[in-house]
Amino acid sequence: MIKHIIVIGAGFGGLALAIRLQAAGFSTQLLEQRDRPGGRAYVYQDKGFTFDAGPTVITDPGAIKELFVLSGKSMSDYVELLPVTPFYRLCWESGEIFDYSNDQMLLESQIRKFNPRDVVGYQRFLDYSDEVFNEGYLKFATVPFLSFRDMLRATPQLARLQAWRSVYSKVASFIENDKLRQAFSFHSLLVGGNPFATSSIYTLIHALERKWGIWFPLGGTGALVNGMVKLFQDIGGSLELNARVSYIEVKNMVISAVHLASGRVFETRAVASNADVVHTYADLLGHHPTAAAQAGKLKSKRMSNSLFVLYFGLNYQYDQLAQHTVFFSPRYRDLINEIFNCDTLARDFSLYLHAPCVTDLSLAPLGCGSYYVLVPVPHLGTANLDWNIKGPWLRDRIFDYLEQHCMPKLRSHLVTYRMFTPFDFRDDLNAYQGSAFSVEPILKQSAWFRPHNRDIYIRNLYLVGAGTHPGAGIPGVISSAKATATLMMKDMYE
Ligand SMILES: Cc1cc2nc3c(=O)[nH]c(=O)nc-3n(C[C@H](O)[C@H](O)[C@H](O)COP(=O)(O)OP(=O)(O)OC[C@H]3O[C@@H](n4cnc5c(N)ncnc54)[C@H](O)[C@@H]3O)c2cc1C
Repeated sequence: MIKHIIVIGAGFGGLALAIRLQAAGFSTQLLEQRDRPGGRAYVYQDKGFTFDAGPTVITDPGAIKELFVLSGKSMSDYVELLPVTPFYRLCWESGEIFDYSNDQMLLESQIRKFNPRDVVGYQRFLDYSDEVFNEGYLKFATVPFLSFRDMLRATPQLARLQAWRSVYSKVASFIENDKLRQAFSFHSLLVGGNPFATSSIYTLIHALERKWGIWFPLGGTGALVNGMVKLFQDIGGSLELNARVSYIEVKNMVISAVHLASGRVFETRAVASNADVVHTYADLLGHHPTAAAQAGKLKSKRMSNSLFVLYFGLNYQYDQLAQHTVFFSPRYRDLINEIFNCDTLARDFSLYLHAPCVTDLSLAPLGCGSYYVLVPVPHLGTANLDWNIKGPWLRDRIFDYLEQHCMPKLRSHLVTYRMFTPFDFRDDLNAYQGSAFSVEPILKQSAWFRPHNRDIYIRNLYLVGAGTHPGAGIPGVISSAKATATLMMKDMYE
């Protein structure tokens, strides 16, 4: 069977790319190793509860809508996005709470309570974040950086915006209060970036959220994945699940075929890999000299942190919760430093609690609630921990914490739970070192310094997803799909 193009992996990046290619008239085969699409956005269903495994905060809905429009379809026929308010509830152990939303008056009145002088500081931060958003996101997120010349073109803007400074340092230059500094700098953690090391360009996430809001798909993030799969299939694309790619065949620096672990072979004109970048180069192409060299280089890069995720279903609903809540540990800088740089697991944690039934009751049986907690932890290269032991330990500490702070008697309502550890990122998703977000988004690993959207040597090998430009997060990987699709189409028409 000759399909024109093969996309390996049905994460958001792979799906978005496959839709773009199919819509442009290329017959596209999507191959996914797991039994369901979505990648990090996999869905678990258990005892009537639906658990979105990964992304829950949907931003830049326009980028998703664009995929439907260019396919000649209407997004509303496939999936409905619901607005979420507040965006996040931020809580500290001192009892202070900050409801972060899109309402400027409400935001300012809350900021005033923490520190009246920071109201003006926040307005200046928002202006800065807007500017970074215009330069960094609108101009560069969907443009591939293939040569150093591309990088030089962006350099004056990066310099003017002080991109060498960290997210935290830039936020702190506008805002004095310690907790508000946390409130406006933690966002880079959502894409695997240490706020103390990641480029201040990532403050654009704040402007992105303020401009276009935060959304949640009716039926959960899985409903969005299903909508994208249906769109791809409706326009003629083909998706195979349980199709693990084991080998990419290269002849004279050109890929000729893709081999599945089952023994099936797909001939192809071009391949785009949405699988982990190190896995792609080391495992699927490790037999090829230039790819093996690239794998070696990638292994020396800094990977993003991993996550411990605890999904649980309760025969009770805690009505006072917001959909997205962040509980900050009293230690901010030191804890983050330990997650990114130390070989042990900290005794304390900051956590994100997801309560999707606040917006959508269909995700749990009547009167029940489905929840998940996410805790950033070191990846396996930073801390080689035995998660078979650490997992249950951390689960118990998280349940203790929740019972104490917001979900009294949680354990007496427990119907089901499941854990996802760095071992699972490594084993279920082929993620190098169990990283949750792939290559860490620091300046010297961004744009041209990130693995390129097209390989330098193998002419018809492309990358899409978190490991390539611009990086992780749904808006990031959907942008990467646009960058990669533009390149592929140009190459294919030449
Ligand atoms: C717990 C969690 C919460 C998150 N929350 C948010 C959020 O709220 N908002 C947000 O914007 N982002 C969030 N993110 C980040 C975001 O989910 C990811 O950056 C993004 O989904 C990654 O998409 P991707 O296209 O890179 O592919 P992935 O989702 O990584 O998918 C890659 C796919 O490739 C497949 N694959 C791998 N190897 C092979 C092979 N050999 N053969 C065939 N298939 C293969 C995998 O099975 C997988 O399906 C979160 C991430 C996690 C882990």
